[in-house]
Amino acid sequence: MSVHVGVLALQGDTREHVAALREADAEVSTVRRRSELDVVDALVIPGGESTTMSHLLRAFDLLDPLRQRLADGMPAYGSCAGMILLASEILDAGAPGREAVALGAIDMTVRRNAFGRQVDSFEGEVTFDGLDGPAHAVFIRAPWVERVGPQVQVLARADDHIVAVRQGGVLATAFHPEMTGDRRVHKLFVDIVTGSR
Ligand code: GLN
Repeated sequence: MSVHVGVLALQGDTREHVAALREADAEVSTVRRRSELDVVDALVIPGGESTTMSHLLRAFDLLDPLRQRLADGMPAYGSCAGMILLASEILDAGAPGREAVALGAIDMTVRRNAFGRQVDSFEGEVTFDGLDGPAHAVFIRAPWVERVGPQVQVLARADDHIVAVRQGGVLATAFHPEMTGDRRVHKLFVDIVTGSR
């Protein structure tokens, strides 16, 4: 039986993740409300704007239920803004009162818009642990990871900065595999979800 993966659909590139997950053979639905979160095996948090998504998570009464499901061990994957939200600590989290919220699913400190200070967006090949051969990575005002805890596996680096990590069933990338035709990262996540059941 295929796994049922939700994609958070408050803001950001939800559609691209839905398509990528379908191609990776998951059953997929969008998540905008609690009842939709309750029925999925796992959740993808898309790329977009982490401060806006944080605001909408509160407005849609999803913040506490999402924290709870993550604390209960629900697998999750976040790309870019999604990586920021999955962190336990966020640097440059945004304007006071509009900060991105740290869901604490991965013991790591991320710096928001870290690459954005240097170049707004760039692409390149990264070596990604567990994938056969390099992945083409698209970075758009991307974060990087400045600290990881002992349970965190570093999967990829770009210019010496950590850009992909995994802690148990939770995966995060600073870049956007959903924007390329390469489905290996989504397949890896679907395998993680399958293995966790
Ligand atoms: N800079 C965005 C943020 O802070 C992330 C950008 C992206 O998801 N491409 O959330």
